[in-house]
Amino acid sequence: MIAKEFVEKCRSFLEANRIRLDEPMKLHTTFQIGGPADCLIFPASMEETERIFKLAAEYKVPFTILGNGSNVLVRDKGIRGLVIKFDRPMSRIEVDGTRIRAAAGAMLKDVSEVAATSNLTGLEFACGIPGSIGGAVFMNAGAYDGEMQDVIASVKAVDSRGEVHVFPREELQLGYRHSIFQENGEAICEVELALAAGKQSEIREKMQGFTERREAKQPLELPSAGSTFKRPEGYFAGTLIDQTGLKGLTVGGAQVSKKHAGFVVNAGEATAEDVQNLIHEVQRRVREAHGVELKPEVRIIGEA
Ligand SMILES: Cc1cc2nc3c(=O)[nH]c(=O)nc-3n(C[C@H](O)[C@H](O)[C@H](O)COP(=O)(O)OP(=O)(O)OC[C@H]3O[C@@H](n4cnc5c(N)ncnc54)[C@H](O)[C@@H]3O)c2cc1C
Repeated sequence: MIAKEFVEKCRSFLEANRIRLDEPMKLHTTFQIGGPADCLIFPASMEETERIFKLAAEYKVPFTILGNGSNVLVRDKGIRGLVIKFDRPMSRIEVDGTRIRAAAGAMLKDVSEVAATSNLTGLEFACGIPGSIGGAVFMNAGAYDGEMQDVIASVKAVDSRGEVHVFPREELQLGYRHSIFQENGEAICEVELALAAGKQSEIREKMQGFTERREAKQPLELPSAGSTFKRPEGYFAGTLIDQTGLKGLTVGGAQVSKKHAGFVVNAGEATAEDVQNLIHEVQRRVREAHGVELKPEVRIIGEA
């Protein structure tokens, strides 16, 4: 249950389609899995985000932040309280010399495209990562020897009391799939990237190469949340899982991809419970075969 007054106050300044009750989260995750959120809001600006957080604090409404939902598994009973989803309404991208400022809901592929069009190099690695720029900072997403930490200059975020903070790159505690936001719980609202001048033909060639590699290796034809597990020190999760003979292992509708063992895919009507049971089974068998503990990269949220 969510306070009626909270919903009414939010409705007073949000357009009808930017506040939804009992919204199925399977519509908002790339896994296409997840029960309903009590209330889902799409903010359109940082000021609006501050206002929503202040109201959530006043009415003691718990909140969960989401970007494009490409690195989460939402459990089957959904999410209590408020989900704040940074999406299209908050996706402005601005270029200023070699800097790009993007609002949290801008898609990484769109920011990479703007960089390429503006002859800016440094973000080619990100062109095929299907997340928002906010989610990419939160995860310090990376691919093909590039990571968000190579290009972030600063981040503006809003805390749970609705206060704005500016974090220069050095304060972001960026590491392998880690940023300070995993501990402080603040909402990333705007990201400034520092890129370098480059040649458009070379930038596009790189992007094309990365896209071809991704399409050849990854099961992009089925819903997933990307790599299920973090890379264990000294190994590759996908290789370990493959060597354990687990490609195609299935629990309910969840399956270890036959194309890339590092991906769990939704092969048809999978529940979050199916995915979690499959994850546990993969962890158990890899531990037994190799003595390596696989840790999920996918963030598991909501009620079981
Ligand atoms: C097919 C496929 C391929 C992928 N390939 C890669 C890859 O090559 N490299 C890689 O690193 N990842 C990859 N991913 C995973 C995923 O795309 C990245 O982790 C991405 O950065 C997540 O962004 P998102 O907006 O979807 O975040 P979400 O999944 O919505 O959220 C992820 C986490 O970030 C938090 N979060 C999101 N937005 C904000 C915000 N504005 N403020 C504060 N917290 C926020 C959420 O609370 C959540 O804990 C892949 C996923 C898929 C489905």
